[in-house]
Amino acid sequence: MEETAEVKVAKPKIVDTHAHLGECCVFGGFTTEEDLIRRMEECGVDATIVQPYPGAKDFLKRHDEIAALCQKYPGRIFGLASLSPHIGRDRYRKEVERCVKELKFVGVKLHTIGHAVNPLSEDGNLVFETAHDLGIPAMVHTGAGIPFALPALCIPAAQKYPGLNIVLAHAGMGIVSAEAQVAASVCRNLYLETSWCLGEDIRWMISTIGPDRVMMGADLPSNVPVEFAKYRALDLKPETYDQVMGKTATEVFKLHWSN
Ligand SMILES: [Zn+2]
Repeated sequence: MEETAEVKVAKPKIVDTHAHLGECCVFGGFTTEEDLIRRMEECGVDATIVQPYPGAKDFLKRHDEIAALCQKYPGRIFGLASLSPHIGRDRYRKEVERCVKELKFVGVKLHTIGHAVNPLSEDGNLVFETAHDLGIPAMVHTGAGIPFALPALCIPAAQKYPGLNIVLAHAGMGIVSAEAQVAASVCRNLYLETSWCLGEDIRWMISTIGPDRVMMGADLPSNVPVEFAKYRALDLKPETYDQVMGKTATEVFKLHWSN
């Protein structure tokens, strides 16, 4: 008689790769812990990667608060450092190192518009170099905020640091999404986080760049259900949906699950 073994397949994780906590004196607005958790529960998000807004008045305090959330919700909240590289090389590197080594954050942000950073500048390079040295991905704001936010400005860093994964946040945000697609087609280590993109642009990126380099992000709590609606409307194959909704992020940010 044939033995039947019960094979348990773990449910694929859903990851929102782009969220913020606290205040933003650059763009306005404030996101609370309750805002984040409520939308995660409403939409079935398993884990969210949380960063300070570029307009955080005290990035040290925000990093600590995000670390406290990671402790409170293990495996559900992951931290990502965000601070201006204009504060000076030593201070910058010290804080990103603290975030990665002590607070266990999974990436660092280069905010082209919020921190006024040209990815081609010396301070822009400081972000890429620091991420490369610490073995974490760098997420770069693209879209609104041209010229610094042009996706192509990340190509030189992607080529200089082939071992560094660079996530193009907002993947060009609709207006320069074609450029984000071209940049990703040129560099294997460029990834596309698609918050605020058009649904059909997301479909095009998935079919041309590949689902293993596309990831869902929402940016704002009220946009979490909107991004879910966009992805669901694309009628993707289940394995493609699972990849872009969580697997890509899990691989790129090396997320570890406690369960
Ligand atoms: Zn954002």
